[in-house]
Amino acid sequence: MARSSSRYRPRRPTAARAPQRTRLRKNDTVEVITGKDKGKRGRVLSVDPRTGRVLVEGVQMVKRHTRANPTRQIKGGVAERERPIAASNVMLVCSECGPVRIAHRVDEGGGKARRLRVCRKCGAPLDKKG
Ligand SMILES: [Zn+2]
Repeated sequence: MARSSSRYRPRRPTAARAPQRTRLRKNDTVEVITGKDKGKRGRVLSVDPRTGRVLVEGVQMVKRHTRANPTRQIKGGVAERERPIAASNVMLVCSECGPVRIAHRVDEGGGKARRLRVCRKCGAPLDKKG
Protein backbone atom coordinates (compact mmCIF):
# COMPACT_ATOMS: atom_id res chain seq x y z
CA MET A 1 0.00 0.00 0.00
CA ALA A 2 1.27 3.42 -0.86
CA ARG A 3 2.01 5.74 1.95
CA SER A 4 -0.90 8.08 2.34
CA SER A 5 1.08 10.85 3.95
CA SER A 6 4.45 12.18 2.99
CA ARG A 7 5.04 13.22 6.57
CA TYR A 8 7.94 11.39 8.11
CA ARG A 9 7.00 9.58 11.26
CA PRO A 10 9.91 9.01 13.57
CA ARG A 11 10.14 5.59 15.15
CA ARG A 12 9.69 5.16 18.83
CA PRO A 13 12.98 5.89 20.52
CA THR A 14 15.01 2.74 20.89
CA ALA A 15 15.49 2.77 24.62
CA ALA A 16 18.47 1.04 26.13
CA ARG A 17 19.01 -1.41 23.33
CA ALA A 18 22.34 -3.14 23.19
CA PRO A 19 24.58 -1.61 20.54
CA GLN A 20 24.68 -3.57 17.33
CA ARG A 21 27.84 -4.54 15.60
CA THR A 22 27.85 -3.02 12.18
CA ARG A 23 30.25 -4.04 9.50
CA LEU A 24 30.02 -0.63 7.97
CA ARG A 25 32.08 2.42 8.64
CA LYS A 26 31.99 6.04 7.77
CA ASN A 27 33.04 6.81 4.17
CA ASP A 28 32.28 3.29 2.94
CA THR A 29 30.61 3.09 -0.44
CA VAL A 30 27.44 1.07 -0.13
CA GLU A 31 24.61 -0.01 -2.37
CA VAL A 32 21.02 -0.10 -1.19
CA ILE A 33 19.63 -3.59 -1.71
CA THR A 34 16.03 -3.07 -0.76
CA GLY A 35 13.42 -0.37 -0.35
CA LYS A 36 12.53 2.59 -2.51
CA ASP A 37 16.16 3.52 -3.07
CA LYS A 38 17.16 0.01 -4.18
CA GLY A 39 20.17 0.09 -6.49
CA LYS A 40 21.38 3.48 -5.37
CA ARG A 41 24.95 3.87 -4.31
CA GLY A 42 26.34 6.37 -1.89
CA ARG A 43 28.89 7.16 0.72
CA VAL A 44 28.21 6.39 4.36
CA LEU A 45 27.99 9.69 6.18
CA SER A 46 27.53 8.30 9.66
CA VAL A 47 26.88 5.05 11.48
CA ASP A 48 24.70 4.75 14.55
CA PRO A 49 25.53 1.54 16.40
CA ARG A 50 22.73 2.16 18.87
CA THR A 51 20.04 1.82 16.25
CA GLY A 52 21.97 -0.22 13.69
CA ARG A 53 21.32 2.44 11.10
CA VAL A 54 23.51 4.28 8.68
CA LEU A 55 23.15 7.60 6.95
CA VAL A 56 23.93 7.26 3.25
CA GLU A 57 24.51 10.21 0.96
CA GLY A 58 21.56 10.76 -1.37
CA VAL A 59 19.59 7.81 -0.05
CA GLN A 60 16.27 7.89 1.76
CA MET A 61 15.77 11.56 1.05
CA VAL A 62 12.91 13.22 2.81
CA LYS A 63 11.53 16.70 2.43
CA ARG A 64 11.47 18.79 5.53
CA HIS A 65 9.26 21.82 5.45
CA THR A 66 10.97 24.42 7.52
CA ARG A 67 9.74 27.78 8.65
CA ALA A 68 12.05 30.72 8.25
CA ASN A 69 13.66 31.84 11.47
CA PRO A 70 15.77 34.91 10.71
CA THR A 71 17.21 35.19 14.20
CA ARG A 72 18.80 31.75 13.84
CA GLN A 73 19.52 32.21 10.11
CA ILE A 74 17.20 29.41 9.11
CA LYS A 75 15.71 29.75 5.69
CA GLY A 76 12.16 28.66 5.12
CA GLY A 77 10.97 26.33 2.42
CA VAL A 78 11.37 22.68 1.59
CA ALA A 79 14.73 21.16 2.36
CA GLU A 80 15.80 17.64 1.40
CA ARG A 81 17.63 15.63 3.99
CA GLU A 82 18.82 12.06 4.27
CA ARG A 83 17.27 9.77 6.84
CA PRO A 84 19.12 6.86 8.38
CA ILE A 85 18.55 3.49 6.73
CA ALA A 86 18.89 0.10 8.41
CA ALA A 87 22.38 -1.29 7.94
CA SER A 88 20.91 -4.61 6.86
CA ASN A 89 19.42 -2.92 3.80
CA VAL A 90 22.74 -1.89 2.35
CA MET A 91 25.77 -3.80 1.16
CA LEU A 92 29.35 -2.68 1.01
CA VAL A 93 30.61 -2.24 -2.54
CA CYS A 94 33.84 -3.94 -3.65
CA SER A 95 35.56 -2.00 -6.42
CA GLU A 96 35.97 -5.24 -8.41
CA CYS A 97 32.79 -7.24 -7.73
CA GLY A 98 30.14 -4.68 -6.79
CA PRO A 99 27.99 -5.22 -3.71
CA VAL A 100 29.46 -8.02 -1.63
CA ARG A 101 29.27 -9.59 1.76
CA ILE A 102 32.13 -8.91 4.07
CA ALA A 103 34.61 -11.44 5.32
CA HIS A 104 37.31 -10.81 7.86
CA ARG A 105 40.95 -11.67 7.81
CA VAL A 106 43.36 -11.36 10.66
CA ASP A 107 46.51 -9.62 9.63
CA GLU A 108 49.44 -10.20 11.95
CA GLY A 109 51.85 -7.87 10.20
CA GLY A 110 54.03 -5.83 12.49
CA GLY A 111 53.41 -8.00 15.51
CA LYS A 112 49.95 -6.60 16.10
CA ALA A 113 46.95 -8.62 14.99
CA ARG A 114 44.42 -6.52 13.12
CA ARG A 115 41.05 -7.55 11.83
CA LEU A 116 40.69 -6.50 8.23
CA ARG A 117 37.51 -6.45 6.24
CA VAL A 118 37.90 -8.23 2.93
CA CYS A 119 35.65 -8.99 -0.02
CA ARG A 120 34.08 -12.43 0.32
CA LYS A 121 34.32 -12.96 -3.43
CA CYS A 122 37.79 -11.83 -4.46
CA GLY A 123 39.49 -11.34 -1.10
CA ALA A 124 40.50 -7.79 -1.80
CA PRO A 125 40.82 -5.61 1.28
CA LEU A 126 37.88 -3.29 1.73
CA ASP A 127 39.42 -0.97 4.27
CA LYS A 128 40.69 2.13 2.61
CA LYS A 129 43.61 2.71 4.91
CA GLY A 130 46.16 0.26 6.20
ZN1 LIG B 1 35.69 -8.22 -4.60
